[in-house]
Amino acid sequence: MARSEKADKILQVLRRSFGVPRLPSVEDPFKVLVRTVISQSTAETNTRRAYQNLSERFQITPEALSKASLKEVEDALRVAGLYRNKSRVLKEIARRVLEEFSGSLDFIYSTPLAEARRRLMELPGVGFKTADIVLLFCAGRPVLPVDTHVKRVSKRLGLAPSDGSYEDVRLSLQRLYEPKEYFDVHMLLIALGRKYCKALKPSCPVCPVRDLCPSASV
Ligand code: SF4
Repeated sequence: MARSEKADKILQVLRRSFGVPRLPSVEDPFKVLVRTVISQSTAETNTRRAYQNLSERFQITPEALSKASLKEVEDALRVAGLYRNKSRVLKEIARRVLEEFSGSLDFIYSTPLAEARRRLMELPGVGFKTADIVLLFCAGRPVLPVDTHVKRVSKRLGLAPSDGSYEDVRLSLQRLYEPKEYFDVHMLLIALGRKYCKALKPSCPVCPVRDLCPSASV
């Protein structure tokens, strides 16, 4: 079976197994950026709690976060991993967005994609994944973010080179799928990674894409 045909089949099976993901209603890019920084090396439940704590104490805006004391931000984020570092990073992001982008990330909607990506990644704590999530989720730009699940699962499925870097995996997936499918592919590979294709003990015998996976074990 050709690789693109297999990629299509995998997407069909994942949609049947997990449902078609719903793109969240358009959200403010600064909020999505803050949430994504909090999520780094942190489980989804703790990310949600930390973001909730932060939003109960402050408006999630560059103005409010840059004025907040470091201690207050740390207290709100304590439930998230690396909260001290993240608190410093978020305050610095807020300051830089105010100073360098006049308090708005609206350039993500209209600036050429590579340039928008580069500008986001100049902010502290913002790497490929965080930038790509903001670009896809908020602006529907044609990038496919690769998190730890997407990377592991796409390699095991043979959709990306086994020794591929972030950019290798992203470009490989982007070649296999249409831009309108990028959000679904991102969300569904994460769902597969969380439920079946875990890092240490993948549940191959009950995995829905087992018949399409070259790494399936018995
Ligand atoms: S068959 Fe196993 S290795 Fe392949 S995607 Fe499923 S859980 Fe992962």
